[in-house]
Parts: sequence; structure tokens; C-alpha cells
Amino acid sequence: MVPSRTVKILGKPLLASIVLALAGVGIWLALARPTNPPRAPHAIVLVTLDTLRADHLGCYGYVRDTSPFIDSLARKGVIFTNAFAPMATTSPSHASLFTSLYPLQHGVRKNGHVLDDSFLTMAELLRERGYETAGFVSTDRHFGAGNLKQGFQIFDEAPPSHPEFRPSEETIDRAIAWLTERTSSDRLFLWVHLFDAHGPYIPHHRFPPQSKADERRLLQFLIEQHQLDVGFFRRSHKRILTLMGEYDGEVAALDRAVKRLFETVEQRLGKADTLWILTSDHGEGLGNHRWLGHTKMIYNEQLRTPLILYSSSGSLPGRKIEHVVENVDLLPTVAALVGGSLESQAGEVQGSSWLPLLNGAHDRFPDKQAFAERREFLVEEHGGTSKYEKGEKYALQDRRHKYILRTEGGDEFFDVVADPYETYNLITVPSPERDRMREALLAKVAHLKRNATVSPKLVDEATQEKLRALGYVP
Ligand SMILES: [Zn+2]
Repeated sequence: MVPSRTVKILGKPLLASIVLALAGVGIWLALARPTNPPRAPHAIVLVTLDTLRADHLGCYGYVRDTSPFIDSLARKGVIFTNAFAPMATTSPSHASLFTSLYPLQHGVRKNGHVLDDSFLTMAELLRERGYETAGFVSTDRHFGAGNLKQGFQIFDEAPPSHPEFRPSEETIDRAIAWLTERTSSDRLFLWVHLFDAHGPYIPHHRFPPQSKADERRLLQFLIEQHQLDVGFFRRSHKRILTLMGEYDGEVAALDRAVKRLFETVEQRLGKADTLWILTSDHGEGLGNHRWLGHTKMIYNEQLRTPLILYSSSGSLPGRKIEHVVENVDLLPTVAALVGGSLESQAGEVQGSSWLPLLNGAHDRFPDKQAFAERREFLVEEHGGTSKYEKGEKYALQDRRHKYILRTEGGDEFFDVVADPYETYNLITVPSPERDRMREALLAKVAHLKRNATVSPKLVDEATQEKLRALGYVP
């Protein structure tokens, strides 16, 4: 809506010209580029592969064969190469995926925060549109206690007998058992969350031993392509190979789990139109920027996520999309597909529907600047550990540049095309892009903070204790 103050200062002839011009553009767009009317899929299957770094999948260029099945879906479907999470933390990122709001808006700014009931979630929207909603998740401390289960009729969490999380095999078993017994012919929204790529790693998932030649090839790839800092591993190739053997083994386990789920869904739903959405909530440091885990940093090894869409009906022709997209775009995309409305969302929706990109009308999708944030790591939470870091961090990035703002100083600016692993800070090099992005980022943070209405609440004490077992401080 145009603010009334703006309307008042416009002269009538000018206003009339603008209205006519806008109407003309609308008519031109409608005539020039008819888009296919969206068709609601019979089933939507969302798989979130927690902590999965995009660049450890074959379809994103990884040198090891970690993901043959996911790669096959990516070849037949739509693969996004510049998809980003708004925060490298499980609960906040999933809350954004489900609400199209950034953590500053929905208030889930760390694991242990509870999503307020006032927010409209993807499951609630799909339930309103007649979908049966079922969620199968691999922890018992992020989603149920954090109220991210709102809207799910069936919600299956890891049982308390698992001290940390439920391995993907077991979560998939639960989902398969439910699908096998399901008799309803209603439309279906199925969310499966798998946690294997998150530590602690499962010993029997470890990647099979490689030949010496393959190990050398992997090391060379990691150092040259992923810009891995060998010094961080005390120049020990053995340490690097051990870590990658553990992590890549989990990626391969996730790939096998997705394949099993896919085969069951195909078997149970037959030729019904099923839309698959594979993504992750964040990546993992694995030594880049001298950091092994996630949450603390907002470099792209932690923010860039895999994003693959596949339709069993063939309604999504295979293509690679390089536009910058965000996880907050998913809900508007799903809403557009099923004819749902986000007007009742208790906050300013941040995402843009991908339908123009999926329909090949790329010029009708905005040139986005992906936003990311990290709250302050308080000293009382992290004491003197290396996890503690004063101040908040925010980032904005487009296809070419990324600006990282630190409230404590020490901003960074990167050319993410020439330097995708953010190793050369260009903050001292004057450029109009640097200054524009800084201004845009400051304005965005101020706007989001001004409009934040929710004070986060913490999960109960027992769940906080469970989160501590995973290394979080709720
Ligand atoms: Zn996570």
C-alpha cells in the first residue's frame, strides 16, 4: 500500500501518469508472457537434510560419489545453485522455512526458542487447503517442544530412548510404516527431517575406505576447490580424511534414506502427482574459516543449502536455476501452487514464489539479496569457550557480492563469484557495491527490528537439558 503522505505530495497529472503506466505494464506482462496456471500437486514431500552442505553432493560438484540417488533427482528435476538459509541453526532456519519470516521476525533465534502460535505455518496452510499433514523428525528437542509441529495432524518425533537423535534409517522406517498403513486418498503433505549429517557421527555410516589415489584426489579437491585450510588440521592429512570420511558417510546414508522413502512414496501413491522438495536447514564448517560446526558463522559453507525440486508427473522440466533464492521463498511457492493465501501471516512475508522461475519466466522473479543473521553468543552462555563471540552478525548477498556486518566492527565484503569460499576480504577496497550493500543491510536490519513483535519464549527445562547434550546452550 502507498503511504498516504506520499500520495499527497504527488500532483494529480503525475499521479495519473503513474497509474496509467503501471496499468500498461500490467497489461503488457499479461499479454507478453502467459504463465501456466499453477496446479496443486496431490502430494508434497518435503525432506530437510539437517546440516547438509550443498557442496558435498555430487550434483553440486563434489568429487566423491556421496549422493547417487539425489543426483539422479537433480538431473531430472530443478536444481537451485544459489539457495541460502537465513541462519545456520536448526530451529530458526526451519521456522523461517515454514513461515516465510526471518528469525528476527518470528522470534526463534536459537534452538530452544518456541515458535508463537500466532504464526501461520506451511503445515497449517496446507491443512486448510485439504492436505493431510504428517511430520517425521529425527530429534525430540527442536520441533515439538519448539512448536514447529503446529499444523501437523501426525507428528512423529525421536523417542526419548535416543540420547541425541534418531538415525535416518529409523525415521524412514517410521514414515514408511505409516505410509504403508495409510488408507486415505486425501492430498498429502509429508515432512521428513533427517539428522545424520549433524554430529555426533554414526560409526557404521563411515564412508568406505578409499584407495590412496582417491584419497589424494579428495585432498587436492578440498584444498583447491573448497579452499580448505590445512593449517587448521595441523597439516595432518589423516585428520582431514577422518573427518571427511565421517561426514561424507553421513551424506551417503542420507542419500540411501531418501531413496528408500522415494521408492515407498512412488509405490504407495502410484502415478499421483508428487512434488518433492529436498533441502537442508544449513551447512557445516568442516574446517572452512577454522570452524568445524555451524551456528556461529554466516559464511556460505554454513548458509548455502542444496535445493532440488522434482515432480513425479514430469510437470517440472529439468533445469538449473542460478538465481539467488532463500528458504523463506518456499512457503509463498507452496501457497501459490495450492491456491493458499499468506495474508493472515502475523508478520511481513519475506519470500517470493518460485513459480516464475519454474515456468521459465525468469525476468519475473526479483533479483534477490539473500539475508542472514546470527544473534549474539552471550558470554553467560558460552563462557570463555571458542563459541563465545560478542555482537550480532548480519549478511546480505546477491549473485556477485556479499556484505557481512558485525555490530562490534570488523565488517567483511566478498566477491562471491571470484572467491566463493570468502577468503579475500575486500572491505578496505572502496566500491559503490560495497557502500550500497552496507546501506541496504543496515536499513533491512533496522526495519526488521522495528517490526519484530514477538518476545521469544524458551522450551521447558527438560528439553533445554536435551539440547545441551547436542552442544547447544538454549
Ligand atoms: Zn540443523
